Order: sequence, then structure tokens, then C-alpha cells
Amino acid sequence: MFVDVILPLPFSELFTYSVPEEMQQKMGPGHRVIVPFGSRKYYTGIVRRLHQDKPAHFEVKEIHSSLDSHPVVCEQQLELWEWISFYYLSPLGDVFKAALPPSMKPDGQKQKTAPRTETYLQLNEALDAATVAMLIGRAKKQHALLGNLKQYLSTNQLELVRKKDVTRFGNYSPSVLKGLLNKGVLLEQEMEMDRRPPEHDMEASRAPFPLNNVQQEALNAILDSFTRQSTCLLHGVTSSGKTEIYVHLVETFLAKGKQILYLVPEIALTTQLTRRLRSVFGNKMAIYHSRINDRERADIWQKMLSDEPYDIILGVRSSLFLPFRQLGLVIVDEEHETSYKQQDPAPRYHARDTAIMLGHIAGAKTLLGSATPSIESFHNARKGKYGLVTLNKRYSNLMMPEIVIHDTRDLRKRKKMKSLLTPGLIEEMKKALSNDEQTILFRNRRGFSAMVECAQCGWIPKCSRCDVAFTYHKKGNRLICHYCNTSHVLMTECPTCNQQSLKPLGQGTERLEEEVSLLFPDATVDRMDTDTTRGKKSLETIIHDFQENRIQILVGTQMLSKGLDFENVRVVGIISADSLLNHPDFRSHERGFQLMIQAAGRAGRKHRRGVVIIQSNDPHQPVYEFIRKNDFEAFYHSQLGERELFHYPPFYRLIRAVFRHKNGEQAEAAASRYANLLKQLLHERVLGPNIPVVGRVQNYHIREVLLKLENSLPTRQVRNLLKKAEKELRRDPRFRYMILYYDVDPV
Ligand code: ADP
Ligand code: ZN
Ligand code: ZN
Repeated sequence: MFVDVILPLPFSELFTYSVPEEMQQKMGPGHRVIVPFGSRKYYTGIVRRLHQDKPAHFEVKEIHSSLDSHPVVCEQQLELWEWISFYYLSPLGDVFKAALPPSMKPDGQKQKTAPRTETYLQLNEALDAATVAMLIGRAKKQHALLGNLKQYLSTNQLELVRKKDVTRFGNYSPSVLKGLLNKGVLLEQEMEMDRRPPEHDMEASRAPFPLNNVQQEALNAILDSFTRQSTCLLHGVTSSGKTEIYVHLVETFLAKGKQILYLVPEIALTTQLTRRLRSVFGNKMAIYHSRINDRERADIWQKMLSDEPYDIILGVRSSLFLPFRQLGLVIVDEEHETSYKQQDPAPRYHARDTAIMLGHIAGAKTLLGSATPSIESFHNARKGKYGLVTLNKRYSNLMMPEIVIHDTRDLRKRKKMKSLLTPGLIEEMKKALSNDEQTILFRNRRGFSAMVECAQCGWIPKCSRCDVAFTYHKKGNRLICHYCNTSHVLMTECPTCNQQSLKPLGQGTERLEEEVSLLFPDATVDRMDTDTTRGKKSLETIIHDFQENRIQILVGTQMLSKGLDFENVRVVGIISADSLLNHPDFRSHERGFQLMIQAAGRAGRKHRRGVVIIQSNDPHQPVYEFIRKNDFEAFYHSQLGERELFHYPPFYRLIRAVFRHKNGEQAEAAASRYANLLKQLLHERVLGPNIPVVGRVQNYHIREVLLKLENSLPTRQVRNLLKKAEKELRRDPRFRYMILYYDVDPV
């Protein structure tokens, strides 16, 4: 007996091994086996198929050991892997690597010995708050760490946290934690790696809220569309009650004995949503995202294979790979989010589109939901490929915020701009403050300023490994490359003209925070971006503080605009909105529209009408009018003409072939050769090679060949052409080890 095995290596080929007599009884597709590969290495592979065909041309090696008596990956999952590998032009072995939790792919060389243990931390429940306060005294950092830890435990309903994970709560030196341990405020506990920390009881605590008429109609319309189409788009404005409709839809499928996958974008701040779903579904639901550890992932996977699997999985894109056996429904919340697309490493798949394919394979329905659908999904819905259900009003007649555009160029000309904020915005913020209401300010860039420039000679410090200017961060007075994270302290002199004339240009969130603090000295101002949340405060802490009204003005990047529900926000300010629209990308207006509408959605969610102020140098661009009126459909139509004319989605599909090499000429030569090979067959559909906006990253030179393919071209044939061209290219010894990867449907 022979098996063809998928190995966790960047290949699509299967590898054949023979099965020793004693393993033959319990061998089948989806089983894990440990096999030798290369001269000394062992890998965990997945059996794809069994057969009797002895390979003719090479000596077949034997399976070393078998890990399972039942499949850990089901046929449907394997089919999905193969589709991803095919459609996204990603090696099957890379899909396997992405799909299975690491601990389920043990390295064949390591033999398990004694159970491995790990240290967990726990609050000392024997101490009351006053005692703790006394013990910690004036050790500020200890207070801060303890606060973050408590917050984390309570939001995640945990009693224990891995000691290792303390780094997650900020850049604390080990001495801070040691202090808390020495004082007995925290206790350590050794546990076997395989035992999960106990969780709080997670029984459901309430029934779903009854839907109002509008919601009920929408739900009926979705169910009705599912009788005809397997995918439906729910387009509902922010706060229209989509989540509540999802809850009822989940109930409907639970009643049919089906499983539900509820997908959320990677960066989504899921604590609010988790609590809401947990209160209704209790421990029928498991959470599968980047915050849970590998052991927990493996546990969830195993439970999905058991006779009592979870009914509901709330997760990010990797949860598409879980072994569902009764999948009935996939919900893709905020379907327009670009973080659904995996960028690096391969497989570069889009979770929304993969969800639709999973639904197809599993015979399940897919619901896409958004206040600002992607042009592609809306187009598919308009064409009748998907069902379409629309909600135009906020729940319980809450008003949409008023959206106002301020012309900063004009204000500047009239000398009315005394700060980064327009006088009108400052006025609204003052009003909000005096009514105990909150403000959110968005700025699409972190750091203190965009970059630094020499006022004398115009020199701009750039990263030596990437072709981008450094971003200046006032904290630590550092220059940081946002592409490779290289950083160093800002020099005092310009190295080209030796003058002390290096000046920050433009503004980031850090600068905005500083300025707002000066404008409103009595207000509590805080900032949320990847810098602050990597630092001393966790994301959860900032959100919690904001919800509890401990922060009056919150400054942040777009991170803040994602699906959060703040009841007391009256003012939303979008600073230098044009930067959202001016990317050299055909989607820049789509992204800008989505971002501004989503940001606007944070205003006035509960008590009274909010106001959104958009600051623009160029307020007459038509997109602002669509935003002001919150008119998604008009915006959609405005985009179509251009998309069709310039051969972009939704009328054409894009594939980017990316070449990377340490030597720029080699990268160029390979990309040209490849483009020429393809042009012979695909003609003007092949563009490039081009140098991307950032043409060098971490010392690799990058070239791109872009394909614009009309929707009617057969997917398989196109992929075969690309593979043939690649094979041809690699015949040339210069290009044998060239890095070439594909980005299909880039976002
Ligand atoms: P969306 O997902 O469209 O942004 P949500 O489902 O979060 O909207 O609803 C907005 C607010 O209205 C939430 O605070 C939610 O609790 C409330 N809400 C929505 N539907 C109902 C309902 N049927 N009964 C009670 N409250 C509801
Ligand atoms: Zn200079
Ligand atoms: Zn760099």
C-alpha cells in the first residue's frame, strides 16, 4: 500500500511513501503521518490518498510513524485546501501549514518525553484591594501591569494567564512582574501544557432580543434569498441592528442542527461582540483568533472532530480551516475589510471569497454583511449572483450623524487655521466636553510626523534597507521604518550639509495628541494606534477606559473605526481626510469612502445626533458629497465607469506576479522575461514589469507584473499559462532561485 502525502513545504506536489504492514489497518485520507524527507529530516504530513501504484522511477521510502487512527482533516477541508492552492496560486504545502495549528504538526525528530509544563499567573484572591494597594505602594509600573492583567482576565473570562504572555501587556521589564510576585499579589502555578486553564462558567445568560419589524423583514428576506442563492449580502447602515439579525439567523440554523462559522476581520476589536454573542450562545461557541494560544487552537480542532463539536465558531480567517462536519452557515461580518486578505506569507487568500467557496463545498449558506460593502460584492448582488437585503435606518430610529466638510485650504488662506483642527471642530469639541460627551479624532498615520526633512538642503532620512522615508516618532526621538521596523535616534545634524536643520514634516497621531492636549488642557486625552497598544496599555484597556468615560478625547488611526460601539461619542473629527483618497491605487476612493463612513458611524450612537467633521484641502471632490449624504449606491455607481474603462474589478480580475531579488538587475530581467512570455498569449492584458511604490524592502528589489483578466476568461486555463511561463523562466539558471509569488485579487 502507498500513500500520497501533503508536506508542510512550499510545493504543490504530493509525495509518495509506502505504508508498513502494521499501519495499513488504520490508514486513510486526512491522517497525519511522520515521514522522512531529504537526507535527515522528518516532517508531519497529511495523507491525501491511498493507492497500490508503486512509483516506477524512484525508491519509495516508508512512513516513519502514524499519528492518528481517524482523519484530523476531513475530505471537505482537503478540497478547500486544493481550491485555495489552485485559485490563489499558492503551494498546497503552504496551505497545509496555514491550516493546522502548529502543535498538531510535531517535528518528527522530537520524541515526546515527560509532559511539558508551563508557568501560569493568577491573582492572589486572598488579598483585598486595600491590601494590594498597600503592598504595591508607589510602584507605578506594578500598578499599571496589574491593571492590564486584570482587564485582560476579565474581558477574556479567564482566571489564569500564561507567564509568557505578560509581554502582551506592554514593555515591562521583568523586574516589574517579579515585584508583583515577591509581594504575593500574583501567584505562580505550574501546569501541564495539555491542561487548559479553567474558564469561568460560560452558560448563556439571555435570550436574543426580539427583532423589530424592519429587522424581522430583513431576516425573512435573507432566509428567502437562501432558497434561491447560496450567498446573500446584507447592506445595513452602521447601527442598523445587523448583529442582532445575525444572532437570530444563527438561532435558525442551530435549530436545524447545523454549525455556524461567524467570521470577523483580523484587526477587529472583538471584545464587545464576543460578550454579546457569549451571553446568548454560552459555551456552544468557541473563539478562534490570534489571541488564543496554540494549545487552545489544537483543543478546538480536536473538539470539532469529536462527537460533540462546537456549534458556533467565532473567528478570524484561519477558522475557515476548522473541520466542520455540519456546516450550515458562514457569516462574514464587515465583509469589505481588507484584513480578510492574507498578505504574507502564502497562501495569500481572501477569507470572504474562500468562505463562499467553503459554503459551496459544504453545501452551506454564506451571509456577507457591511455598512459599506466592497464594490465587488455589491456588484455581484446587483447582478443577481448574490441575494441583496438592505437596511437604511438605524435601530430604534437613532439618527445618522450630521456630516460636515470643512475646507482647510480656504481656512488657511483666511488665516483661520491656528492648529491642526478647524475652529468649527474645536467649537464642537468644546460643546461636547461641557456636556460630558466624547470626541474621537482620526488621523491616518501614526508617529509624530510623516518624515523629517533638512530645511537647508532638502535631505530626507531614508531606510537603508527599504526605499521609504523614515517616520519620526517623538517618543524616544526616533526614526522608524514602517516597513522593516529598523529604527535609530534622530541625528542632530544633517549628514549632507552638516547644519542643525532637520525638521519634522506633516503630522501623525502623536503630534495630534500633543496638540489636542495643549488645546484642551483640562480634558483627558489618550491615543490609540499600534504604537500605544504595543506599549504600556493594551487595546482592551484603552477601549475600556473610553467606554467608562475616563477618556474624553481619543486620538487614533483607522484602527479606531472598526465596529466599536461607543454610546457617548458626539463628535468625530477626521483630520486631513485627503490623505485617505490620494493613494495611487484604483481603490483609494472606495477605501476612503468606507473608512470615513465607518468612522462617522461611531458618532451619536445612543443619546443624540452626533456630528462628523471632515477636514479636507480639496472638499469639492465628488466623493465627499456621497459621504456627506451617506449614499453608498450613488458612490457605487460613480465608481463603475472608471473601473470598466481602466479594466479593474468588478469587471476584470487582477493577478500580481511579484519578483524579489537582492540584485535589482536580476529582478528586472526575470520580470521582463516572464512578462514577455505571457504577452505572447495574453497580449495587452499583461502590464509591466513595474517597480512598486516601495521598490525595495529589506534589501530585496521588487518588480511586479500585473495581469488584468476579463471575468469571462477561464480561471484554470489562465493559471496553467502562468505556471507554464514560470517553468520556462526557471529553466534559465539565473532565475532558478528567484523569489516569485502571486497575489490574486489583490486588495
Ligand atoms: P450594527 O451591527 O448594524 O452596527 P447592532 O446590531 O450593533 O448594529 O445594533 C446597534 C444597537 O442597537 C446595539 O446597541 C444593539 O444592542 C441595539 N439593538 C439592535 N437590535 C436590537 C433589538 N432587536 N432589540 C434591542 N436592541 C437592539
Ligand atoms: Zn542638509
Ligand atoms: Zn526598512
